Amino acid sequence: MCDIDGYFVGSVIKPPGYTENISMTSIQPPELSVIIPVFNEQDVLPLLFARLYPVLDGLGRSYEVVLVDDGSHDRSPGLLRRQYHERPEVTRVVLLRANAGQHAALTAGFEYSHGKCVITLDADLQNPPEEIPTLLAEIDKGYDYVGSIRNMRRDSRWRHWASLAMNWLREKITSIRMTDQGCMFRAYNREIIQAILDSRESQTFIPALAYTFAGNPVEVVVEHEERAAGESKYSLFKLIHLNFDLMTSFSIVPLQIFSLVGMGIAVISFLFVIYLGVRRLMIGPEVEGLFTLFAIAFFLIGILLFGIGILGEYVGRIYVQVRQRPRFLVGTVLEPGETSQDNGNA
Ligand code: UDP
Ligand code: MG
Repeated sequence: MCDIDGYFVGSVIKPPGYTENISMTSIQPPELSVIIPVFNEQDVLPLLFARLYPVLDGLGRSYEVVLVDDGSHDRSPGLLRRQYHERPEVTRVVLLRANAGQHAALTAGFEYSHGKCVITLDADLQNPPEEIPTLLAEIDKGYDYVGSIRNMRRDSRWRHWASLAMNWLREKITSIRMTDQGCMFRAYNREIIQAILDSRESQTFIPALAYTFAGNPVEVVVEHEERAAGESKYSLFKLIHLNFDLMTSFSIVPLQIFSLVGMGIAVISFLFVIYLGVRRLMIGPEVEGLFTLFAIAFFLIGILLFGIGILGEYVGRIYVQVRQRPRFLVGTVLEPGETSQDNGNA
């Protein structure tokens, strides 16, 4: 088994007693796939499974849970394997060989999912599984993309404010309309998932990319809980990087702003030079105002460096994109399929 985007190098495991008739892959795609990226979540996984599976069992529709381990180095891969052996008929586990980031892990999950509707969920129970029916109800009404807005967000204050600022900025510079871009608890129909898989973007922001393909999007308010256990996997640096991914993938307005600012400064500088030239002719040489000149020069150098930095963000992403390295490396897949050995290498 080999995928194009990801790079399949591991093995595929099937549950004991598996026959082709019970395959949830080729014969009958389930109605729902729930995809969960997992990165060092050993403390929260038992709580997650205890709440998630009863909700899904109660839906009265066929489903699969696709658990993607994003290169964890705690006990998470072992816990995922155990969960697979507990519910092999509805569980798929994809173990990535190295940490690829939440959005790449989600893409890996998309590749291994088959549901007509796909719901993405965080592992830390901040998105209550009990809200899954709320999202499904909107898909049933015919919407192809269901976004969510966190009611009473339960994160640290600085995260909340930073997120508001980034939402505001994204509204201004992109055509993506989302009330709460940071919430990954979303539902997509299969056409949108396929369009995402066809996109081949090496660094992207899944909810925004999905939005660009949505013909009929809607948003619903969902509850938000505090992280059930463990700590956030996003450092300040990772958050900044992610937001740059969002801004650069969906807009070139930052570059255009710099062109405009550059033009504005050029015009002002031109007038300033004429003014200084006239003064030189009328008053003669002057040495006063040296520090003012320094201040102006430093200000302009600051703008210049900022502009080069923004340009670098775009150029760096072009560089990553043209190298066309795999977005993620799959180590082991546990799913109903061909029989082989669990090489335990992921
Ligand atoms: N995650 C991941 N890879 C990463 C970082 C995070 O798969 O490199 C997963 C993480 O295990 C969780 C989800 O992405 O299921 C959201 O992460 P987290 O809760 O730490 O983010 P926050 O809620 O603080 O934004
Ligand atoms: Mg979280």
